[in-house]
Amino acid sequence: MSELEITPIIGVEVHVELETKSKMFCGCPAWHFDTKPNSQTCPVCLGLPGALPVPNKAAIEQTIMIGLALGGEVADESKFDRKNYFYPDLPKGYQISQYDQPLCSEGELKLASGKVVGIERVHLEEDTGKLQHAEVEGRKVSLVDFNRSGVPLVEIVRKPDLASAEEAKEYLKKLKQVIVWLGVSKADMEKGQMRLEPTVNVKIKKNDTVYYTPLVEVKNINSFNFAAQAIEYEVERQVEEWEETGVVKNKGNKTTRGYDSVKKVTFVQRRKEEANDYRYFPEPDIPPLLFGDDQIAGLREKMPELPEEMKKKMLEVGVRNDYAEILLDDKQRLLKVLEMVERGVEEKVEVNKLVGMVINKNLVDFEIEKVIEEVKKESSKVFASEGQTKEWIIKAIRENPQAVVDYAKGKGTAVKFLMGQVMRLGKGQVDPKNLEEKMLEQLRG
Ligand code: ZN
Ligand code: MN
Repeated sequence: MSELEITPIIGVEVHVELETKSKMFCGCPAWHFDTKPNSQTCPVCLGLPGALPVPNKAAIEQTIMIGLALGGEVADESKFDRKNYFYPDLPKGYQISQYDQPLCSEGELKLASGKVVGIERVHLEEDTGKLQHAEVEGRKVSLVDFNRSGVPLVEIVRKPDLASAEEAKEYLKKLKQVIVWLGVSKADMEKGQMRLEPTVNVKIKKNDTVYYTPLVEVKNINSFNFAAQAIEYEVERQVEEWEETGVVKNKGNKTTRGYDSVKKVTFVQRRKEEANDYRYFPEPDIPPLLFGDDQIAGLREKMPELPEEMKKKMLEVGVRNDYAEILLDDKQRLLKVLEMVERGVEEKVEVNKLVGMVINKNLVDFEIEKVIEEVKKESSKVFASEGQTKEWIIKAIRENPQAVVDYAKGKGTAVKFLMGQVMRLGKGQVDPKNLEEKMLEQLRG
């Protein structure tokens, strides 16, 4: 028997809808949730012959800002391309996207561990319409709503160097943070504003020979947990499949799978088209996009402070790393916490006691003064003397003989029960520190 050395190769493509006023190439509103079907359309986003697309400047700027926030390079020259394929929700028969000259490339994102993960590209395209399967007059029909057709959609492609499903999840969470902090989208996954597509295959080493399993792309996942589950499932499934069939990756065997979050399995959707099946070519109705250094500098100035910079700030004022990571989830709360810390420092209150109280009590809307006062009160609390505490311990033991028997029988909860009795006797004056030790001392002695 020889051992298999298994290395998952994980990447993930993310699509994010921007919340611009108008759509990507026409003046229709981009906000399409809870709207009457097909009430926000025009010849451009319906793909009628002769209609001409005009790019949305705000969407281009926001995409560049995402790229800059991820430390990417902005292209001096970029362009749009046609990605040709047929689908009922795509009335033109092609999607205007970007092929070989994305707006941004080569970015990165830092995980909590400090590991830096690479981003291949950030490009801009348009969303499709939405299919609705319904029953009309007793017949099963598919209806199309084009309100979403032409909404600006940013695609962020990650380098396939994530080591695990957990890492993929963290990357996605951090990416969402950046987008939300920039204010370009709420990236609400339930609404479909942010859609995840993990790509997975596995490197298998056996007897010094290396094999790669066929690449799988899992489509349209709408939760971080499901993305992680799908990745874990795929790694296992692919190793099993390889052991059974020996089939390895080649140019033609990439597949697209869906994820069933109830059964927790992936299933085949279709064989994946290669890039050349889409017959990409430059969009002839839109001239190339050129950017000057001053334009990019102007966008940089417009950008708000980002999670990574805020985290640095928190660490500088002494906030614990794990607390800082939690606070990044809510920008408003974070700003308030920073304000509180500043005041707390003036009043000589320990930073992490303040932050700890906000996090442990899950305070969102809190009054800074009140938290400071509470922490002060707690830290200045005078506890009962050692001797007094010992008396309560002895009393608790005497009054609860059954608990002592339970303890002697090895029942761990008996000690906790007795400690609770001591706390009750002390009416809040017992220092919980070392109480268990003292209790055990009495019980053993
Ligand atoms: Zn339109
Ligand atoms: Mn795309």
